[in-house]
Amino acid sequence: MVLPIVGSCFCGSASWAIFSPPVISAYCHCTNCQRLTACPFVHTMHVQAVDFTWKHAEPHADKLDTYTNYLKPHKTRFRCKKCGACLASTNTLTQRISIWGALLERDENGNVLHWDIAKPTSHIFYDTRMLDVKDELPKWEGYENNSTRM
Ligand SMILES: [Zn+2]
Ligand SMILES: [Zn+2]
Repeated sequence: MVLPIVGSCFCGSASWAIFSPPVISAYCHCTNCQRLTACPFVHTMHVQAVDFTWKHAEPHADKLDTYTNYLKPHKTRFRCKKCGACLASTNTLTQRISIWGALLERDENGNVLHWDIAKPTSHIFYDTRMLDVKDELPKWEGYENNSTRM
């Protein structure tokens, strides 16, 4: 059994673990992700809050800063105080946590471990993409199976 799957920030001072495969794993092209990460799109994963835990030693206030999205006040992001990498975002409406695939534990060659479990199954919010992606994954205007397929 490979679960839990773990991830950490760039410097390693903050980390988390998930105890079930992601409910959603997708490349997100939404304008919030784009602007919050300064990247054209991100590999996002959603897990139920009950399947997520912080792995680093508490207290969190020593490790993490928070930012609540003023456009979506139910979403709070947690960022490493040391390296600045964003580790997770909580959503109090859905009781889900967003985490990012690029933070997953890697092997000595830099490849993400357990990619078969974590890998994206679609592109979401593809309507606001900053570049076209030519792959086999389905493209959705909003969330997968909950919007128009493009
Ligand atoms: Zn860090
Ligand atoms: Zn997004």
